[in-house]
Amino acid sequence: MTIILDGKALSDSLREHIRREVEGYLSEGLRPPALAVVLVGDDPASHVYVSNKQKACQKVGIKSLFYHLPQNTTTQELLELIAQLNAEETVDGILVQLPLPTQINQHEVILAIDPHKDVDGFHPENMGRLVSRMEDGFIPCTPLGIDLLLKHYQVDLKGKDVVIVGAGFIVGRPLSLLMLWREATVSLCHIHTKDITQYTRMADVLVSATGVAGLIKAHMVKEGVVVVDVGISRVGDKIVGDVDFESVKEKASAITPVPGGVGPMTVTSLILNVLKAYRRRMGKEGKNHFEPQSIANQMKKAYKD
Ligand code: NAD
Repeated sequence: MTIILDGKALSDSLREHIRREVEGYLSEGLRPPALAVVLVGDDPASHVYVSNKQKACQKVGIKSLFYHLPQNTTTQELLELIAQLNAEETVDGILVQLPLPTQINQHEVILAIDPHKDVDGFHPENMGRLVSRMEDGFIPCTPLGIDLLLKHYQVDLKGKDVVIVGAGFIVGRPLSLLMLWREATVSLCHIHTKDITQYTRMADVLVSATGVAGLIKAHMVKEGVVVVDVGISRVGDKIVGDVDFESVKEKASAITPVPGGVGPMTVTSLILNVLKAYRRRMGKEGKNHFEPQSIANQMKKAYKD
């Protein structure tokens, strides 16, 4: 029987651990963890993503500060806000929702965020830590969420063929590095890959992150594959992934649903990164107020083998 990799259920339980840990800090008289969320412009999808992230933070006791700037904001104006948030003692994490309007230099903005507050993990210093396998950086949220989900379901990665379709900056590329940490053999495919099926058919674990609805079909996978569907596309009034779920499920040993798979794990990973930043700032690293299976251990496991 195919196992459904239930990111919603795992997220719920991780967030409950986090909520209790934060509650503990508050009862010690400490300030709450705080995330500054910056949104530029009025892209409807970005509004939804930002609102979901803020609600999720608030539910676990993380204070969410929202900065909404107009569509015509300049790079300089955004850099000024980031400098202010970098300097603010009570802000633990800074998230600038991407994509930014085209007049803004995205690279400059990412570079300006203090790497210790870069809870999205996009700053070159944190990406570099990922390359160097240094565990004290921030891992980008979607790759971290996928890793936690695979770990939770005890999917063995060592020596396995992990094939990632989609080599974007947010998902595919950093995930390929993380899968190398796990000692998998990684293939990273993209729009110019000559024959994607040649790769997908050899995958023990197949991750698709392209945003092309229904790209991965049953004939493209082998029996027993573990499938992680990152894609989000709107088809009519439905949200669907990259994977033709019903047919691929018949061959897979395990598969993520869309919605309810990677999406909630991405938001949970953001919360974990904010907590990691907060712990570091408050001198709480390595301390654990609750049961041994607390989030401290989950985090340790997430960043270690
Ligand atoms: P991106 O545009 O940065 O990258 C897309 C990648 O897919 C590129 O490498 C491109 O070459 C490749 N690609 C596109 N069409 C292809 C095709 N036909 N065959 C093979 N490769 C193809 O996008 P992204 O930011 O990495 O996001 C990818 C998808 O993942 C989107 O649908 C996005 O909404 C979704 N996403 C979901 C979550 C989540 O939490 N579930 C998080 C981030 C992104």
